Amino acid sequence: MPRQFFVGGNFKMNGVTDSIKSIVKNINEAKRDPTTEVVIAPPTIYLALTRELADPSIAVSAQNVYDKPNGAFTGELSVEQLNDTKIAWTLVGHSERRVLLREDDDFVARKTKAAIDGGLSVILCIGESLEEREANKTIDVVTKQLTAVAERLSKEEWAKVVIAYEPIWAIGTGKVATTAQAQEVHAAIRKWLATISPEVAENTRIIYGGSVSDKNCRELAKENDVDGFLVGGASLKPAFVDIINSRL
Ligand code: PGA
Repeated sequence: MPRQFFVGGNFKMNGVTDSIKSIVKNINEAKRDPTTEVVIAPPTIYLALTRELADPSIAVSAQNVYDKPNGAFTGELSVEQLNDTKIAWTLVGHSERRVLLREDDDFVARKTKAAIDGGLSVILCIGESLEEREANKTIDVVTKQLTAVAERLSKEEWAKVVIAYEPIWAIGTGKVATTAQAQEVHAAIRKWLATISPEVAENTRIIYGGSVSDKNCRELAKENDVDGFLVGGASLKPAFVDIINSRL
């Protein structure tokens, strides 16, 4: 079975009630490729509102989750709370959290496992810095990030994971990876996934993120191992729909 094309919108810390309502309305009312799976990730405080407003064919994702079930963890969000509010997905390991909030590979792996144990699906973000790319360490970095997760997941649990390859130097910079750069890393990730099992390699979606726009999405979407996108800035704009439709 071919892998279903996947487009995620990561609103990050953007939007207030009015703008979130209008973004969701725009996505709801647009003509969307029915073969693309669409998941949007608003800020935490707007998760329930977004779930209420979004068409049922659009999934809603948290931007982060904690690995402990409940308790004295001020400011954190639990898997149970996401389930309770009908939020079926969470992002984990976004580079902004890895870098700014110092989340390490093991913490990201624990959160991934906790989310999957609780029945959520996970968009697992990985990617290298510019310094690491220039030192030819890209594949080492992403496989190390993935290995930490693989140590905690069974083969079957990978069915709940979408891997978002997001080179840090391309996020929010307008400097998108070339199609060849994206394909090269995605193919290497798929090859690495084959060490878990051929099915995991074949079935796991690997999406690209980093300055994806309505201008560059069509070319990127043609690459064999690019199964969709995680979109930041452009997910706040009407052009997000063109990215959802990048294969039409
Ligand atoms: P960007 O962000 O599309 O604004 O570069 C992507 C992301 O961080 O997920």
